[in-house]
Amino acid sequence: MNDCRAAVITAHNQPLEIQRVPIPELEPGALLVRIEASTLCGTDVHRWHGPLGDGDTLPIITGHEPCGYIEKINGERTDILGSPVKPGDRIVWSYVSCGSCYYCSVALQPCICPGRASWGHNRSDRYPYLLGSCSEYMYVPPPCLIVKVPQAVSSASAAASACAYRTVMHGFDRLGAVKSHETVLIQGSGPLGNFATAVARDHGAKQVLVIGAPAARLEVIRRMGADAVLNLEEVTDAKARQKWVHDHTDGRGADVVIQVANNMAVAEGLTMLRDGGRFVSIGAGGKANVEVNRLPQEMIFHTIRSGEPRHWLQAIDFLASRKNKFPFEEMITASYKLEQVNDALKAMASYQVVKAVIQFQ
Ligand SMILES: [Zn+2]
Ligand SMILES: [Zn+2]
Repeated sequence: MNDCRAAVITAHNQPLEIQRVPIPELEPGALLVRIEASTLCGTDVHRWHGPLGDGDTLPIITGHEPCGYIEKINGERTDILGSPVKPGDRIVWSYVSCGSCYYCSVALQPCICPGRASWGHNRSDRYPYLLGSCSEYMYVPPPCLIVKVPQAVSSASAAASACAYRTVMHGFDRLGAVKSHETVLIQGSGPLGNFATAVARDHGAKQVLVIGAPAARLEVIRRMGADAVLNLEEVTDAKARQKWVHDHTDGRGADVVIQVANNMAVAEGLTMLRDGGRFVSIGAGGKANVEVNRLPQEMIFHTIRSGEPRHWLQAIDFLASRKNKFPFEEMITASYKLEQVNDALKAMASYQVVKAVIQFQ
């Protein structure tokens, strides 16, 4: 076996090509994984539309949310909990920070390490070729930490843990305890919003409110534990949306706002947060031109990017241990084969599905 099939972006905004890409030699400590499921993410859609400014050049294998079976290991490896891994184990694996820069070693904030390695934007014509998840095989570089996936978790859900869900876990990690009298407002009803709703419910919030769209996504999010949802397409006036939140919170605003829509939603979210509340903005950081017209007193504001290895584990643990409490599989709303990757990306771009998955045999 010298090569495998992968979905490659060769030109922005053009259909992806299914190409044969070389399977690399493994450095000591590296793994080769046979992918079973690769979920797609908004970032994949953005990167398909144009470069994201982090230096990516084409061609690239799209996708950064993989789950699969270990095919080969060069040497001996253990998982994040210290138990040995072997071929045939089903796994997800973390991103890699450099470990020695200011952010890694002094600030202890490895998610903003400038030398961080991640997937779905690496050239497929340079070693180690297979660093995108819409591919039959992926290369796992030696420093990645490995998380075994228990039987209770589907490969599609585990794949979504490799980006969306672990970022939510990172957000809750930074937020700290949610108290039993608190109202959590979630802005956004995509995969992050759905997962955040389940976690907020699980962590003991008094009520979870969600603002999002379209109706199909809000139906799923109700089953994930939202007490009340507001459809952005039906309530187009920002003042009316603010009033809805205030009506649910004795006129104060939410104790916690979790923004998972996009940076433009931050300004509106701040009008819905009570004084002294906590705001968690998850996902796309960096460029933002946000005009704020209300800044709550004594608020705490977190912006969350990506996750640390423990958040991969937390996401997988949550999926396994809360399997009977939340209908996680409902978030994976559309399944595609590798050859249908263009349809899958279009479905994600039009928000008609919560999460699309490429399934391999
Ligand atoms: Zn992602
Ligand atoms: Zn670093």
